[in-house]
Amino acid sequence: MPGFELFGDEERKEVNDVLETGILMRYGFDGPRKGIWKAQELEKAITETFGCQYAQLTSSGTAALTTAMVALGIGVGDEVIMPAFTFVASFEAVLSVGAIPVLVDVDDTLTLRPDAVKNAITSKTKCVMPVHMCGSMADLDALSAICAEHQLILLEDACQSIGGTYKGKALGTIGHAGTFSFDFVKMITCAEGGVVMTNDQSVYTKADGYTDHGHDHLGVDRGADLHPFIGYNFRISELHAAVGLAQIKKLNTFLALQTKNNHALKAYLETIPEVSFRRVPDGGVDSCSFLSWFLPTAEQTQAVVQELKAQGILAGNFYWYANNWHYISKWDHLKQATTLSRISAEQEAALLKLQTTQFNDSDAIMSRCISTAISLVWTEAQIRDKGLKLVEVIKKVLA
Ligand SMILES: *Cc1c(COP(=O)(O)O)cnc(C)c1O
Repeated sequence: MPGFELFGDEERKEVNDVLETGILMRYGFDGPRKGIWKAQELEKAITETFGCQYAQLTSSGTAALTTAMVALGIGVGDEVIMPAFTFVASFEAVLSVGAIPVLVDVDDTLTLRPDAVKNAITSKTKCVMPVHMCGSMADLDALSAICAEHQLILLEDACQSIGGTYKGKALGTIGHAGTFSFDFVKMITCAEGGVVMTNDQSVYTKADGYTDHGHDHLGVDRGADLHPFIGYNFRISELHAAVGLAQIKKLNTFLALQTKNNHALKAYLETIPEVSFRRVPDGGVDSCSFLSWFLPTAEQTQAVVQELKAQGILAGNFYWYANNWHYISKWDHLKQATTLSRISAEQEAALLKLQTTQFNDSDAIMSRCISTAISLVWTEAQIRDKGLKLVEVIKKVLA
């Protein structure tokens, strides 16, 4: 996944363009910036690369999710259905707009189970937010149909799946809006940054204003801008955008390397009949940032994790089930509603309820899953070494 592995002259050149003028801000200063508009250029590159009409850069992927929700009109008391396996940013964003995260089970796609989504719909449901985890995607046809039937918003958290596609469309461009993260470990990085993508002009205009204190950006004099609504500051800087601009130009190279390395590693694990792999929905193309695989039982999977640890080769193999950042089982701060300031009674009640909510279907999947992160810079010899060692450990546990 990490674009930072192939950081080089291209990034330095783009950043230097900005340093030459010293205009680090994305808006205004039209004269002294001498035609250098990195954030605007990156937004244009995003719309062209991923095939959406509008892109609004933000200061992070989390800010992109918050911005998307605000722009889609999601607010206090609205319920957002999201998966129990994701990154904490997904529920942070929901809570940030006053909405209520409703966590439901995932299936062997490692993303939302459509029937679990259906069962969770109430009169307060406003949005379904699939999170395309670990490079691949949710069953978007099924989720789109549910959203259409119940008049719900589909917001894709595609932060981890830049470059993946579904039925020919880029992940993140299929719902009413979608987001990417460009944080340091994502497929392409700005160091910190994110984007809201949409084909809805009104959602875009709101996102554009919201990320910059509600400025309407209609005039040439920033000081004279009107403020049609209250905004916030989620701006990206020109320095960050410059890094992203160099990275997006290399995306196809990243994806080709990643896919090749993923498939090469997979070939080793495929030799073991007990190993199965994460399901990619029909019509989907995995970005291949991770190779996610299952063993028949939770005990065997935990034994493999222990053995990898004992041999000092666990790094890069993620057992999300026991991971503090990604799965409901370890989100004690969420389940105890541990916030620094008061939240609404509705939000608090919803969070405390998670303590007694069962996620049996997700547990059955996640407790058997290991995701191996794919590096862009592995040599063939390194892949062979990793593949053979993984096979040896798995065979030892299964024996
Ligand atoms: C990285 C990530 C985010 C948030 O991105 P930041 O840029 O780190 O704020 C949101 N959702 C998922 C699934 C992520 O992996």
